[in-house]
Amino acid sequence: MKRNSRRTSWISTLISVIDGGSDRIDHHPCPRCEKNRLEVRYLGYPESRLATVHLWCNACLHGIQISRARAPEGMTLYPIKDPASADGIPDFVRHQP
Ligand SMILES: [Zn+2]
Repeated sequence: MKRNSRRTSWISTLISVIDGGSDRIDHHPCPRCEKNRLEVRYLGYPESRLATVHLWCNACLHGIQISRARAPEGMTLYPIKDPASADGIPDFVRHQP
């Protein structure tokens, strides 16, 4: 059950990031280690804004990855066709959404 509640808090963190409408998320604490070192990145298709979203913590290197998401307005969309778009995404532990 502990695992489930942790999973929920990654999702609820992502939801509050999306609600914030910006990829400047340094005021959001990590649901795992509570440091303000989260980063979010949408990799996808600029025409449809269909994307895979990566949300991770640079302090503890945990996070989630969700495909077939839609990048909200205000979020930077990194073109998936450009290999440089994934630069800087660390090899973090991905919790199942
Ligand atoms: Zn963390």
